[in-house]
Amino acid sequence: MGRVSAGHSHSSAHYGNKDAVRAVIVSAVALGLAALAEITASVVSGSASVLADGLHNAGDVLTSFILLFTFALVRRPATRRFSSGYGRFEDVATLLIIVVIIVTAAVAAAESVSKLIHPVTYSNIPLSLGAALIGVIANLGVSEYKLRVGRGIGSESLAADGVHSRIDALVSAAAFVGIGLAGAGLAIADPIAGIVITLAIVFVLAGTVKQLFYRMMDAVDPTIVDEIANAASSVSGVLQVHDVRVRWVGRELVAVMHVAMNPKCTLEDAHALAMRVESAVCQQVPAARLEIHMDPGTAKHKHALVGTPEPNEEHDPSS
Ligand SMILES: [Zn+2]
Ligand SMILES: [Zn+2]
Ligand SMILES: [Zn+2]
Repeated sequence: MGRVSAGHSHSSAHYGNKDAVRAVIVSAVALGLAALAEITASVVSGSASVLADGLHNAGDVLTSFILLFTFALVRRPATRRFSSGYGRFEDVATLLIIVVIIVTAAVAAAESVSKLIHPVTYSNIPLSLGAALIGVIANLGVSEYKLRVGRGIGSESLAADGVHSRIDALVSAAAFVGIGLAGAGLAIADPIAGIVITLAIVFVLAGTVKQLFYRMMDAVDPTIVDEIANAASSVSGVLQVHDVRVRWVGRELVAVMHVAMNPKCTLEDAHALAMRVESAVCQQVPAARLEIHMDPGTAKHKHALVGTPEPNEEHDPSS
């Protein structure tokens, strides 16, 4: 480990996406068939609640395809334009998903409110009941599958999607109850169930918006910052760790930190220490990818902030 100029590798997070891709495809096909059955049945029977649920499931299928595209894209190597890689496309995907949810919620709301104001007579009730039941079963199956795979590969977005599908099984059950009661003579139950389903869609929307907000603000679980700082401090030779900043880039936690060591050490020693800090932190927080600034000793010092260079600085980085 003596030579610094060649043959060293810095750790980086790995994507194991094969299982995720399969989970997303299988789930999309299952939910797509359920959505098709529900939308067809709702057109035949005139049910607003089954239409709302079918639209919701169709929106989830579109969401799945956006996630699938994301999984494929984030694996691509960095280019000179996208020198940080494509991991952050997860956040772009979240934005696209928000647009999809808004559209499905708007159509479901319009149809439900219209049927509430202008009641219709329903026909072919058993067909819509059966379609809603298919929605319940498809969502329960998809939920278990996505949760298992998502937790297995550490994909938060896939696991969250699994939790979402679990709630969707309840939403489909609401459509079942709505059209069932309408069939029993309580016509108003169908558009009311449609509105309840719309509210469920809006609730999911709020959570997705919050998630995107956190990502855009570079928010992380505060305990992660301490965990990374403590792991770095525990390495022998590290005198001090300060200015730890952590943010998610896709499924990587990019951590920037200052590490102080003995100022009399060689660059070779400093690099070796930085490598040890990297491996110690990655052992504690596997998603972490470090950018380490080495400080000579623990003397008080001030670094120029980005965009506000020191007045006597010789090199202008922008030129
Ligand atoms: Zn859903
Ligand atoms: Zn420093
Ligand atoms: Zn290096």
